[in-house]
Amino acid sequence: MKGPHVRQIQNYACHCLGLKSYFQRPGDGRLHPQIPARDLVWAVVIGHILRVASFLRLEWLAHSPVCAELGLKGPFGDDALAYCTERLDPETTRLALAAALHQAKRNKAFENSRFIGLAVDGTGAGHTHKEPCPLCDPVKDPQGQIHGSLHHFVLISVVGVGLTLPVDVEPYGPGDSEYAAAQRLLRRAAGHLGKRFADYVVGDGEYATAPFLHTSGEVGLPIVARLKENLPLLSAAVRARFDGQPPHAVFQEGDDRVEVWDYDHFDAWETLDWPEVRVLRYHQHKRDGTVVQAEWLTDFPIARLGSLSFYRMAKSRWEIENQGFNDGKNRYGMEHICHHHANSILIVWLLIALALVIERLYRLRYLHRGDHEIRSAMDLFTYLWLNLGSRSPPDTG
Ligand SMILES: [Zn+2]
Repeated sequence: MKGPHVRQIQNYACHCLGLKSYFQRPGDGRLHPQIPARDLVWAVVIGHILRVASFLRLEWLAHSPVCAELGLKGPFGDDALAYCTERLDPETTRLALAAALHQAKRNKAFENSRFIGLAVDGTGAGHTHKEPCPLCDPVKDPQGQIHGSLHHFVLISVVGVGLTLPVDVEPYGPGDSEYAAAQRLLRRAAGHLGKRFADYVVGDGEYATAPFLHTSGEVGLPIVARLKENLPLLSAAVRARFDGQPPHAVFQEGDDRVEVWDYDHFDAWETLDWPEVRVLRYHQHKRDGTVVQAEWLTDFPIARLGSLSFYRMAKSRWEIENQGFNDGKNRYGMEHICHHHANSILIVWLLIALALVIERLYRLRYLHRGDHEIRSAMDLFTYLWLNLGSRSPPDTG
């Protein structure tokens, strides 16, 4: 076998990431399974790495001559995938994700990073006009007319370590909220990962509210959150202190010149139980002349975190946007509903998260050790198809 191959990824996942027992027992809830859950779950994972998102196309792959090369014991139909994912226990996959990330940390996948972050953010995916499931959120235009429905979830990802690795997903349907789902998600992910896994939580302005900041404190993690006008008193105090003042420090960060203002004795607002709030303002001067300004708050003491590290933590939030949602949707089929059933949708999101973790660690940490030149996801994807004996990757659109 020359070069990267699907079977090599399967070996890597089972033996280097410790996922062998998970794939053997992925939480199958079927009473009389005909097709082993191992094959169905692996098919969904490797299918997303090969950018074959739909159950029908997975059925086609499982009936193709490369079935065994994909690491599958035998063929199955799309109905078996639907039936099985309706009945899989999501907790088993969540625990497997956390265990794989722990193994990656033990394998020193993050060793060049001083701080490991956990970013949280919500999104909508899987627009449909089908009969609603319990996760369907109606999409309304400004006149209140309904145009199908969307499925919402919050994602939590490891960030700030050179590669973005999803940890867990929490869906929220009508009557629930991103904000409540994010708190459940943070508690569960912190529980699964354990206290000493990560060093901070990072989120956008909607998470800069007392209950979420308190949740982060409860799970023992300092938080970095965007400061926006939803906190008018703090914003006014920040303007009063920083406006018109020369920057406290200036850094060269890549191509950018970054000016920062950093002060840690702002008053907490009345519902926040912090003794005081630290705020960083930055002006990021890009080469093309544009200037990005933003303000972020944290409970990290200045003694433990310098202004430049604070700036980098704030910037690490973009990873969940770029390598989380954008990659997940544009490349890995997160936008697509394989089977319109609430548990099946959740399971597929979790298996996409697992596929991303396996693909990125394999490509950026495992292959990286050799003299391989594969760096981009597109390179790996093309090699995998070539090495399966396919003349060219099938149309994945
Ligand atoms: Zn639905």
